[in-house]
Amino acid sequence: MSPQNNRPLAILGGTFDPVHLGHLRVAWEAAEFLNADVHMMPANVPPHRSQPVASAGQRVAILRAALQGQDRLLLDERELKRDGPSYTVDTLIELRKEIGPERAVVLLVGADAFSGLASWHRWQALFELAHIGVLTRAGHEVTESPELAEQTRNRRAVSVAELRQSAAGLVIDIRVSALEISATHIRNELAAGREPRYLVPAEVLADRTLLAAYRANASPHER
Ligand code: ATP
Repeated sequence: MSPQNNRPLAILGGTFDPVHLGHLRVAWEAAEFLNADVHMMPANVPPHRSQPVASAGQRVAILRAALQGQDRLLLDERELKRDGPSYTVDTLIELRKEIGPERAVVLLVGADAFSGLASWHRWQALFELAHIGVLTRAGHEVTESPELAEQTRNRRAVSVAELRQSAAGLVIDIRVSALEISATHIRNELAAGREPRYLVPAEVLADRTLLAAYRANASPHER
């Protein structure tokens, strides 16, 4: 294994509708904390959930543009290449086939997403495939259900060195900057005709077709 491939591989999945500086900053902080490559992985949204406003192509184009000029955060389009809903467990199985069983993989999730982990498809299998890095920030506390607490009780890691000793199965808190930015807020700002400058990569504001899509999505109230 080359030294490069010995580094943990982390994944930050999301809708990225659109990607904002909260996503990029926490991904960067996680990359530095873990000394990992972070794969930014836009999801295919299952038909029964509310669909992203921007198309997959638009979400990817903005993400690609936002990632230029650095090489720690990588665009990973694998979930968009698969038909149907993006179950994380399937993504990790696919990734493991590529990279083998030994390299540490860290699934990054926000505190809110982690709190709901026990509702994810085949969630217990996630621990066989990856570590979980919980992006903790002030004001967003984790509330563990009894079954999640039971599952994670003996899995807590307190250092990155500990994580690196195994490929999967541990949970680590990663303290990140508390940037109160959400894609919902960005979409609402755009729909209301305001400009969320300095909350999103400049490419979002430069893409007229994308702006038109968010604008067209405005509720009558926002217009
Ligand atoms: P929406 O408002 O549409 O639900 P979002 O801004 O939460 O979107 P997602 O694409 O759903 O963005 O998020 C992907 C991942 O990034 C999730 O794990 C989420 O918890 C995390 N995340 C989103 N915004 C932030 C932020 N400001 N700081 C830290 N983590 C974040």
